[in-house]
This record gives sequence, C-alpha cells and structure tokens, in this order.
Amino acid sequence: MENLAEKKISKRTGEIPEPYRKGYKKAVKGGSKSAAIKAFCLECSMWQENEITGCKAVTCPLYSVRPFGKRRSLAELAMTLFRMPPIKGEKDE
Ligand code: SF4
Repeated sequence: MENLAEKKISKRTGEIPEPYRKGYKKAVKGGSKSAAIKAFCLECSMWQENEITGCKAVTCPLYSVRPFGKRRSLAELAMTLFRMPPIKGEKDE
C-alpha cells in the first residue's frame, strides 16, 4: 500500500508533461541535486525550457545554476571555437 507521500508524488507525476516525468521522479527520489534544480526550474517556468534560458530572476537562489543556460548562436560558437571576429550586427560579448 502506498503511503501519502508516494500517492502525492504519483499524482503530481501524472500532471507533468511526459518528457519531464523521469527527471521529476529522479528529483523527488533524492540524491541528485542537479535533477532537483532542473525539476524546480522546469516547474517554475511551466515546463518551458526557453523560459529558463531567458530567466531574468537574478535574485533567485537557483539563477546561477539553472539548467538550459544561454544557448549560443552558431555565429557565437564559431567565434568561440575559431576566434573569428564578430559578424556585423551580432553582439560581441
Ligand atoms: S532560476 Fe529562474 S526558472 Fe529557475 S527557479 Fe529561479 S526564477 Fe525559476
């Protein structure tokens, strides 16, 4: 027989979009801080990875360790990999 916590976790898991259920289960099982952070950020952002990437909540304690960090454009990657000068119109960081 399931205890109350298991019932709540099972119910919550059913409410989560399917692709994120495995990570959620790993987070609530314990033992993985990165899974917990990822699951928390995903819940916070309504399961929208791009919302986490664009998160502006710099005062959030998880901000500096949030998953799905800034994705770089191909031009930015090329500049990093091959030390190319910035392309006109692209931001130089
Ligand atoms: S870092 Fe952003 S997405 Fe993650 S928990 Fe904080 S506010 Fe939410």
